[in-house]
Amino acid sequence: MPRSNRPKRNRGQSDEVPELNLDAVRAGIKRIEIKNGVEYCVQTTTGARADDDKVWVCPHCHLNITKGVAHTVAWDAHRDVATRRHFHNACWKSFQGKLL
Ligand SMILES: [Zn+2]
Repeated sequence: MPRSNRPKRNRGQSDEVPELNLDAVRAGIKRIEIKNGVEYCVQTTTGARADDDKVWVCPHCHLNITKGVAHTVAWDAHRDVATRRHFHNACWKSFQGKLL
């Protein structure tokens, strides 16, 4: 029985390292982002868990975010979660203002 003397899995480790952060995002783990010196709690959501047919209005582009659309939820870390707003993922990235 011939044996391979060059194991192919030798460098397999490099595949696994970058996955960590993605998993955290998919699981909707809360993180902190700072914009304009304001700390925001940020959470990504798939939108699939919305109980009703809730529609959010993105404060950045003023377009609707409908159920099932993956998006970003953010709120002021030093104020109440009442400041929580739903953003399109791309809109959150370009959002630089303050939550009202
Ligand atoms: Zn938007």
